[in-house]
Amino acid sequence: MRGTVLHGPGDIRFEECQIPKIIEPTDAVIRMAATCVCGSDLWPYRGLQPISGPTPMGHEYCGFVEEVGSAVKTVKPGQFVIGSFATSDNTCPHCQYGYQSSCAHREWISTAQAPRLRVPLADGTLVATPDVPSDELLPSLLTLSDVMGTGWFAADAANVRPGSTVTVVGDGAVGLLGILSAKQIGAARIIAMSRHPARQKLASEFGATDIVTERGDEGVTRIKDLTQGIGADSVLECVGTQESMMQAIRCTRPGGSVGYVGVPHGVELDGEPLFFSHVHLHGGPAPVRRYLPELIDLVWNRKINPGKVFDLTLPLDQVAEGYRAMDERRAIKTLLRP
Ligand SMILES: [Zn+2]
Repeated sequence: MRGTVLHGPGDIRFEECQIPKIIEPTDAVIRMAATCVCGSDLWPYRGLQPISGPTPMGHEYCGFVEEVGSAVKTVKPGQFVIGSFATSDNTCPHCQYGYQSSCAHREWISTAQAPRLRVPLADGTLVATPDVPSDELLPSLLTLSDVMGTGWFAADAANVRPGSTVTVVGDGAVGLLGILSAKQIGAARIIAMSRHPARQKLASEFGATDIVTERGDEGVTRIKDLTQGIGADSVLECVGTQESMMQAIRCTRPGGSVGYVGVPHGVELDGEPLFFSHVHLHGGPAPVRRYLPELIDLVWNRKINPGKVFDLTLPLDQVAEGYRAMDERRAIKTLLRP
């Protein structure tokens, strides 16, 4: 079997790997229906997050169960399943509290850009769809494994409610699906911060009511102008840089909330201005598993179409071009078909 391996900055190879098999009795092995490239994959790809040697890639997945270990009870061969990028037993105190991505037995999925994948803790990690999905649902179902679940968590963590005024910082796939999530939850006004015409268009399709192209101080001023000087009730921070985080905090009204889901790279917060801002901060790796049943239902019943974030589809063996296209911002997000 061949799979995706990062050898160094810009050096993605599709090369011979071990075929995944059942190791623990709680494992499942799935045959990939579709996988994709994540914005977070670009950090090591760009050399901004060092790797210590050849590193298998990929953590977003959906597909058919091929084989299960002897202890697996709820997942069966032949089922179509989606799972989180973080495995979970779904029974420990953190899982029961709704934070499956902090499961006491968590493992990170890291070899999903391949035709087959071993999923530990299959019963607590995977959720089956009601039936085998039609091909046209595949992109949307795939997004639930991370990018849509993460956008949804950003909206949830930012306390978006029906009628809320929302600002979304970041026009990558997560930010765009944060807009879709805020819309679905019932936000009245959704201000997208984006300077990229194709992304602005998708933002509007997903429910953005206003587009702000300014950044930094000017961006904050624009958000204040658009909200009668108040600031947004909820701000979704979907980038993870110092600039984006500060922009998010400063766009939020006193008592409002920032949901931050961009993995922070070099972000440092000063306690005193944060203290006086009265802003709630909540973020982290999204507990995707908590949202899977509800989001599968929304996709299955054609209430949401998050698969529209994929603007490039390639055969899996052309994964290197998928990374290049996203790195050069020619593509928002690349879907890969084995
Ligand atoms: Zn757990």
